[in-house]
Amino acid sequence: MDLALSFDDVLMVPQYSEVESRFKDIDINQTLVHLGQFSLPIISSPMDTITEIDMATSMHTAGGLGIIHRYNTISEQCDMVAEVAEEGRMVGAAIGVTGNFVERARTLHDAGVNLLCLDVAHGHHSNVRYALEILRNTLGDSIHIMAGNVATREAFEDLADWGADSIRVGIGGGSICSTRTQTGHGVPTFQSILDCAQSDRDVVMVADGGIRNSGDIVKALAAGADFVMAGSLLAGTDESPGEVMVNSDGIVCKTYRGMASKEAQYDWRGRHSSIEGVSHCVPLRGPVDNILETLDTGIRSGLSYSGASNVPILQMKAKFIRQTTSGQIESSTHIKRNGL
Ligand code: IMP
Repeated sequence: MDLALSFDDVLMVPQYSEVESRFKDIDINQTLVHLGQFSLPIISSPMDTITEIDMATSMHTAGGLGIIHRYNTISEQCDMVAEVAEEGRMVGAAIGVTGNFVERARTLHDAGVNLLCLDVAHGHHSNVRYALEILRNTLGDSIHIMAGNVATREAFEDLADWGADSIRVGIGGGSICSTRTQTGHGVPTFQSILDCAQSDRDVVMVADGGIRNSGDIVKALAAGADFVMAGSLLAGTDESPGEVMVNSDGIVCKTYRGMASKEAQYDWRGRHSSIEGVSHCVPLRGPVDNILETLDTGIRSGLSYSGASNVPILQMKAKFIRQTTSGQIESSTHIKRNGL
């Protein structure tokens, strides 16, 4: 049986560095075909508690990208896209692969969307192949299409061959995801990144699910991802959609929920089938800019520890080691465990 590694199973070995300034000497720009360069390789998840107008606007301002979720009417989603894109901001929008997805895609395209995201839990599927074919025939090659999610190199290569420009890699790793307990399926996201990075396909890899801090982002980029997608990292911020509530412990919070949670399914289609996500109340965390700035600094610091001035160099130089359980304990702050 193959061994599959998670982010916490590995560390990166520090290497000789000539980086003096994290800001002047390190460039973390990454490119999305048809959209150009992004100064922050982070994309916000197309979830109804993560990305609407405010989050997409802040993601653009910080140098990343927001993808507006699809759990709304076509006109609601198009209005959000149009509002973000007015002033020349980049914005993405999610669509499904059944029902009126072609009409949704065409209308979003007309509204000025820069990227369409075929947002499917199990992306290695005939429906995705069909959707990519029909969208390419309808909209041509000049619109960036992201597809996913996938967990294996075979799936990654199939989606690339079917016409995706970028692919979301990660199944079952999301913080609010219960796919692995519900279905027994999934691959640790770090392992999926390593496997998909072996591919020779010229397609952008977006690591998605289970990314908890800038250390995980650095590991994901070093293992071969071009961008990361973030949900929980951006949840509970001023820009994440949703009501501010006070929970039973008196904590002021906002909901962050999986789109396959019972709660989300009821809200968007009035019923639930397979429940593969949970709903959680996240304490308020203030403006997302502060979080993005902290992540930006952490990523740059990570590149500096590997002696890399940009992501391609990081990917060439990265030295991963596996750590033991005692290493994992030592790796996270542990002062309380010493009884001090
Ligand atoms: P996080 O960054 O670890 O919170 O994971 C966010 C990712 O989880 C999203 O970008 C989706 O790929 C995935 N996701 C969203 N909703 C669900 C769900 O209900 N079940 C499983 N995965 C989900």
